Amino acid sequence: MMLRISVIGTGYLGATHAAGMAELGFEVLGVDNNPAKAAALSAGQVPFHEPGLPELLAGHVAGGRLRFGTSLIAAAEFADVHFLCVGTPPGPNGAADLSQLYAALDGLVPHLTRNCLIVGKSTVPVGTAEALTDRIAALAPEGISVDLAWNPEFLREGHAVYDTLHPNRLVFGVTTPDAEWALRQVYTTPIAAGSPVVITNLPTAELIKVSANAFLATKISFINAMAELCDIAGADVTLLAEALGHDDRIGHKFLGAGLGYGGGCLPKDVRALIARATELGAGESVDFLRDIDAVNLRRRERVVRETLDLLGGENRARGRVGVLGAAFKPLSDDVRDSPALDVARQLRAAGVEVTVFDPAATVPARAVAPQLVFAATPAAALHEADVVLHLTEWREFRELDPVFLRTVARGRTIIDARNTLDPEPWLSAGWDFRALGRLVEP
Ligand code: NAD
Repeated sequence: MMLRISVIGTGYLGATHAAGMAELGFEVLGVDNNPAKAAALSAGQVPFHEPGLPELLAGHVAGGRLRFGTSLIAAAEFADVHFLCVGTPPGPNGAADLSQLYAALDGLVPHLTRNCLIVGKSTVPVGTAEALTDRIAALAPEGISVDLAWNPEFLREGHAVYDTLHPNRLVFGVTTPDAEWALRQVYTTPIAAGSPVVITNLPTAELIKVSANAFLATKISFINAMAELCDIAGADVTLLAEALGHDDRIGHKFLGAGLGYGGGCLPKDVRALIARATELGAGESVDFLRDIDAVNLRRRERVVRETLDLLGGENRARGRVGVLGAAFKPLSDDVRDSPALDVARQLRAAGVEVTVFDPAATVPARAVAPQLVFAATPAAALHEADVVLHLTEWREFRELDPVFLRTVARGRTIIDARNTLDPEPWLSAGWDFRALGRLVEP
């Protein structure tokens, strides 16, 4: 008999995972305690931007294999395998706030009606699964056996559907052969297609996820630290990164110097790892991550400072800035800890008029930054701007017409804070084109 699956928490991760499980052939019930989210998903609508997901999700909702609701009791009755995909946002001091996980278990476990496997997918501090095991044992009804596994998720927003169906690795933190068996059933298709499987214990599975994110953050901050040096030494960080990347021990990916990382994962996971390691008495082992975080935040400060200088210094900053980008990265409308939005907000706080254009993230960006003005087109955002900032590297920004935009803006300076625009057409159109750690020859 085919296992039945519930997915608890249907945000970016859970909605994608639920649709992916339906695509793999399972009957799936997604549960979210936000009724508006559950209602939208039930109607086949994805309440965030993720390429390919609306089609996949709507298809399986219409086909009846995928349902959404708000009842954990219904999930307890329905599924053999329950995936926990709730949020683990930053709490005080950067430590992860695990209250959503505990609330989900408290709502689910007492209502279980048969033996089952609960699988954590959320990113958690090492040691969480062990604590949850105790909670589950205390809450489980008499005679019901509940197993817990950890199966961290590595999907990339913007490529979430592909990554869910073709995971580049599967990590199963398990304590019983039954749990491994059930996870192998769930992932039969990707395993048959070649996704490697790492079987390990619970703490290793938890740590694999946070250390992967800490490594990615380190790579980005490393190249940004080199960009700082390049700026001073008259060197070019884009060529430096290209040359480094040709060494396949280093590789080209995540070596794009620019405004640094953001989003709902990397910044919070780095800080949560520092907090947890410190709690465990191993703070020294991850001390370097404080520098990784500091380098990352300096990128934003640098762009804010340069912009204010261009506008005549902090005290006289009354100019207009046109901002291209609000999402934390392209192909996403996620604005959680977005470097672009952070820069825009800091400038606004310094008295600058800021108008932002983003191809997908206007609605969520306006919700968290109502003090900014949002425009419907790039040209409208640049209208009478004294300085233009390119802050999220959407592909369409590479196709903008610098000649036309010169007639729209008041000033003529653009800072390409992502180092992804071709300077040549901007320079030819008379722009003062600036980049971060990159040499631009006029
Ligand atoms: P999110 O905030 O978008 O989604 C969490 C969802 O859980 C929300 O819809 C919320 O309403 C729901 N929820 C909260 N408490 C609940 C409860 N008690 N019962 C039912 N639903 C509940 O977060 P996300 O980005 O999807 O991330 C979820 C987890 O996955 C985090 O730990 C994150 O670090 C991890 N993760 C995220 C990604 C990503 O790209 N977004 C990738 C890998 C791992």
